[in-house]
Formats: sequence, C-alpha cells, structure tokens
Amino acid sequence: MIQEWIGELVTYGLQNGLVDPADEIYVTNQLLALFGLTEYTVPAERKLPRKISHILEDMTEYGRQMGIWQTDTITQKDLIDTKIMGLLTPPPSVVRKQFWRLYSISPEKATDAYYRFSQATNYIRKDRIEKDEKWVVDTEYGPMDITINLSKPEKDPEEIARAGRMVHAGYPCCLLCKENEGYAGQIAHPARQNHRIIPVNLCSETYYLQYSPYVYYREHCIILNDRHVPMKIDRAVFAKLLDFVRQFPHYTAGSNADLPIVGGSILSHDHFQGGRYPFAMAKAAYEFTWQLKAFPDVHAGILKWPMSVIRLQAEKADSLVQAADRILTVWRKYTDQNAFIFSETEGVQHNTITPIARRRGQLYELDLVLRNNITTEDFPMGVFHPHAQYHAIKKENIGLIEVMGLAVLPARLQKEMAELERRILAKEDLKESELTAVHAQWAEQWIAKYEITEETIHAIVQKEIGNVFVKVLECAGVYKRTPEGRAAFHRFLEKL
Ligand SMILES: [Zn+2]
Repeated sequence: MIQEWIGELVTYGLQNGLVDPADEIYVTNQLLALFGLTEYTVPAERKLPRKISHILEDMTEYGRQMGIWQTDTITQKDLIDTKIMGLLTPPPSVVRKQFWRLYSISPEKATDAYYRFSQATNYIRKDRIEKDEKWVVDTEYGPMDITINLSKPEKDPEEIARAGRMVHAGYPCCLLCKENEGYAGQIAHPARQNHRIIPVNLCSETYYLQYSPYVYYREHCIILNDRHVPMKIDRAVFAKLLDFVRQFPHYTAGSNADLPIVGGSILSHDHFQGGRYPFAMAKAAYEFTWQLKAFPDVHAGILKWPMSVIRLQAEKADSLVQAADRILTVWRKYTDQNAFIFSETEGVQHNTITPIARRRGQLYELDLVLRNNITTEDFPMGVFHPHAQYHAIKKENIGLIEVMGLAVLPARLQKEMAELERRILAKEDLKESELTAVHAQWAEQWIAKYEITEETIHAIVQKEIGNVFVKVLECAGVYKRTPEGRAAFHRFLEKL
C-alpha cells in the first residue's frame, strides 16, 4: 500500500500546485528514501487523492509499523507528517518569486494563492480548524464572533508574562522567528518543514508575512519582525501598520499592546496580526466625533464599543501617524485618579495602546484602543481585565483579536457546555459535576429567563456566552460607558 500512498501524495502535490511536473520523479524518490524503499512501480493510472489528513494518517501509521519512527502522541505524529509534507513543499525562493509575480497583478491574487498554499502544505491543518465551534451573537455593539478553539492550548497570563521576561537562547528563539522556516522541530517545538514566509518591507524594515497555523478567522496572518526583538508600541508601529495596509489594502493589520495582561501571548517577538475579516469593531458606529486642533486633516471620533477606542481617519497616512503618536505620548503619561487611571506605580508603566489599521475606500483608518494593566489587591489579574466572576468562560488576556470583537475561547468549554446543557435539561444539580460546578452561579442567573427545550438550549448557552464576552470587553475598557466614564474620557481628550 505504501507505494500507492506515495503515488497518491505526489498526485495531491501536483494537483495543488506544490509539485511542479518537472519535479514529479524527484519528489517520488525523496518519499521512497524516507520510507527506506528502493523499488517502486509507477501506478498505471492516477487516482483522485483523498483528503491530505487521511493520506498522511496512513503513511505515518505505516512508518510506525515498520519501526521507522514513533507516533505515540499527537506531538510526535505532527513532527512526522510535517516532515513528509516538507518533501512536497517548494523552497522559499520559489514560493516568494510566485508571490511577487502574482502581487504585480494584484495584492489580492498574491494573498489568495499564498493562503491556499499554506493550507495545501498542511501547515494550516484544515481538518483540525474545521472542528472549531463558531457562532455569532447579536449584542448592543453589533454582531460579535465567538469561537471555541480546539487546535491551540490555553495559556495562563502569568506564564505569558514570564515568557516575556525570559531571555531566549534556543534555536529558533521562539515560535515566530524566521528561523522556523523549514525547521524539523522537536517535542517542545513544532516542525515547520512545510512552512514558508514572505519578506515584506515596512517603512524600510524587513518583516515577514505568514498565516497563523490556527486561523482564528479568514486569512488570519502574522507579520513578524526580521529580528527577535520585544513588542513595543511607538510611532514607528503606527507607520508600519499603515504601510502594510497601503501594500495590502484588502487586509486589516493591528498590533497587540506591549505590556503584560493587556498584551497578546507573545511579547518577546515584535509582530502584528491581520487578515481579511470584517470584524464587528470595523463596523462600529461613532458615539461622537471631534476635531484635533493640531491635525486639521484628521477626522477623530470615539466608537460605540465596550472598550475605549479613538478612531482616526485621514487621506494621508503620515497625518494619522503624527496624530496617533500625539495620543500615545499623552496617554503614556496620563493619570486621572478619579477614573482610576495611573500611568505608573512604583516606576512600572501601565498605559499603552492596542492599534488597528485598515483602509476605508481612499482613506486610511487607525483605531487606538486605550489600555491600562494596573493590578490591585481586589483585582490581582488586572483592574481592566476579565473580572473573576467571568473566569470560568474567559480568564485570558483581552488581546488584539478579542478587542476587535472575536472571542477566542478555550477548548475545555466545549465539553463543559455540553454537560451544562445536559444537566439543565435533566434538571440535575450543576454543582455536582466538576465540569459544570464553576458555571453554576452564572447559569442560575439566566435559566429562569428562557423557555428551555432540547431544541433551544444550545442557542441559549451560545447567546449567554456571547453576553459574557461583552462583559469581559467592558471590564477591559478603561472608561466605562456611564456618565462618569464618559466625563473622564472627555477629560483625557481635552489633554490632546
Ligand atoms: Zn522570535
């Protein structure tokens, strides 16, 4: 059978543009060598290949039975099937040439093909992504997206903060470093023989474009610094984000904030995230607009959004960079004790910004989300962080993706919600199960509100999870949407 599967895999490579017809015999021979085979019968006819995950499953299992490798865990299996796909994946030089050839026709053609390529190589594991549960919840801020992610492990905010302070000495330094391209991996670091990155020039600095292997949303891309340097929000970041959307006008690009608690999961390697997805935040309306006196060609407004967002628009990207830099500079040093905003305590900085850039027709647009990572005895994980009563659903940092209106929830929730639904229908005590005890108090708040049946329960739970997501975004908002909060927001705007 292995000969048949090798033929099937090469056919898959040919059909998906991974293998050039000129390389067919060469790639076949590489695969034979991987399995220690010296004989091969060329198949009489080409059969339609199965799904890539099925072909790879059979091949890795064959190798295990023949004693070529061990595949006791998913991590080991991933190392092996990536090694196999690496033999089908063209070298970076070929992939980059193809990307820029298409880019010269249109940026959209280039990213379309590169996205398809990243799935065809199994770098994006479509079979796993398809298992993610996704739904939309209507809220007062518009339709918010929720996804229960089943392909990436949950990270503890404390662990993220610790990793951010660590000096890396390994190779590759981290999961984002360019040295991952083609890397064989090991138990503690994923294999990337099938991974290819595209160099992009942002304000005369080298960055690389790649897709996230976990694709939380359509064409979820990562734009990483050439060097392993820490995240830092500054004027240059605003300019780089705008330079990216200038070159890829069909994409959004944003950056996580540069401080723990309010930042993303990797603070140690400067990177942005973008993609081609209409996030709820992009559709949010203005609550009010005003004019920044020093920047007459910049239109400014506050968004109707659970977090505190200033939206800037201008025809010239440079005007936006200057206005954004002014807001960041003032915000970094801004303290308003009445609103519990402290720019620093004991020399530790708290204020930062999560910026998001996009094009709106001919205009450049920049959303600046004001962030503060102060902690207190009452809120040891952060005052502007999901509060304890919501931790059973979401305790992780509110990063860039959540800020934009897409909740990425941990895999454990799927099991817990299934059991919660079963117990509610059976009228069993939620506190009796380990899976549902942490959700009991929350569920009791809404059970009585609904007519619950087998048909309606799943949608009700989904809706209530969406309501929690709105609450945790409101927790992360530095200015609450109350008369006092609005007045405090205006006090800040006056300083600009
Ligand atoms: Zn790195």
